[in-house]
Amino acid sequence: TPEVRPHMERLAADGIDVVRVTYPDLIGTDRARDVLLDHLPAACDHGLAFCRAVYHTTPRGGVVPVTGGLEAGLPDICVRPDLGTLHALPWEPGVAWCLGDTLDPATGSPSPESPRDLLRSVLARCTEAGLRPVIGPELEYFLLDQDPGSPGGWRRYAQADAGVVYTAGLRADADNHLLRTLRHLRDLGIRVVTGNHEFDAGQFEINLAHSEAMDAADRAFLLKAAVKELARKEGKLATFMAKPFNDAGGSGFHLHFSGESTEGDAGRNVFDDPAGAFGLSDTGRHAIAGILAHAPALAALLNPTVNSYKRFGPDTLAPWLIDWGLDNRSAMVRIPPERGSGARLEVRLGDASANPYLAIAALCAAVLLGVREGKEPPAPLEGYGYDTEKSRMLPTTLSAALDALEADEALTAALGKDFTESFLTYKRDEVARFNRHVTDWEFAEYSSHL
Ligand code: GLU
Ligand code: MG
Ligand code: MG
Repeated sequence: TPEVRPHMERLAADGIDVVRVTYPDLIGTDRARDVLLDHLPAACDHGLAFCRAVYHTTPRGGVVPVTGGLEAGLPDICVRPDLGTLHALPWEPGVAWCLGDTLDPATGSPSPESPRDLLRSVLARCTEAGLRPVIGPELEYFLLDQDPGSPGGWRRYAQADAGVVYTAGLRADADNHLLRTLRHLRDLGIRVVTGNHEFDAGQFEINLAHSEAMDAADRAFLLKAAVKELARKEGKLATFMAKPFNDAGGSGFHLHFSGESTEGDAGRNVFDDPAGAFGLSDTGRHAIAGILAHAPALAALLNPTVNSYKRFGPDTLAPWLIDWGLDNRSAMVRIPPERGSGARLEVRLGDASANPYLAIAALCAAVLLGVREGKEPPAPLEGYGYDTEKSRMLPTTLSAALDALEADEALTAALGKDFTESFLTYKRDEVARFNRHVTDWEFAEYSSHL
């Protein structure tokens, strides 16, 4: 393939002999094959064969009968490297990273569960409607140290007292984990802008530059994979699960969302209007309304685990009600104070466990529905959102959110029937497995009294 040649020459000149071709599975786990450089042209021509089981395999190795897989005998999917995303791995000399797209080898068309293709198709519909979504992702995570005496074999990396949020340096990060991570991420081309210590001991946040939605999703996906890999390199564990500890807050995946016009005034921020209510345009208000209207279904994709629903709650800085507010961090959608080219929404709903492609695709779909229908949001939240009456609660369990997704015809139509069916099957199996599992809480609560 002629277009592979210049890449091959550059890679060889840079001393690279292995390309790690990575793609997101249904739940956002990074799956990969390491391809020896000589084989890259063939991989680009024919794709790399993977077993479809990746879409069906749970983190503990169980297999879920997701549509089009088991009953067909778990055929191949093939992954075609996207050479536009090649980057040398700064911490692994000789290896470059590259994203891939999954195809059905029989038809050559995208596989229906492919998160990257789902986002691509939602974005194409946004562009047709004159809107180019721009996303700025923020990811929080906990870092853990190996400790055979702790539950699961891990304990929080730092044991610092309260008050560590927005401290930098050794006080709450004795091994300088964050500095090393930020520099590696920069060299990987992920375009991180800032990193900081979060509210809880051992919890960090990394913010990415905003960009066009697919690029932002690619970088958020690679950020998670890179942070996990870098932690492993030092014998640590980085977890993006939503709420790993009872005595600490959860980890959010806040998404700053704005839109650029694709029409005559291309590039203009379509959420800004100095003459509009709150300094926002009609499109900006419709976008907020779309997100609020579809919030229960969105939760299934932005809060996709059983554990996610333990992050929500009063006084958490995570959301609790379906609401929005002007520079109000207790609301589900915060409108930061900037206007003009910086006019945007901060959607605080998502947690760090979400698959970035699915979270961003679902959000774009909800915004587009709000804009198409010209929806108006209710009045913004005033004051502290955790005190208000509970009329518009978010779902309190994954099961309730999955039901809300299934019932939301407009959103599921936008995401596609095949994808929605596969996602619901996988996630309902997860709920069923959890429901059958006896937890520590039950033993502590019941064993001596009953
Ligand atoms: N950790 C909080 C969450 O789960 C967010 C804290 C913050 O505002 O940065 O969303
Ligand atoms: Mg934060
Ligand atoms: Mg934030």
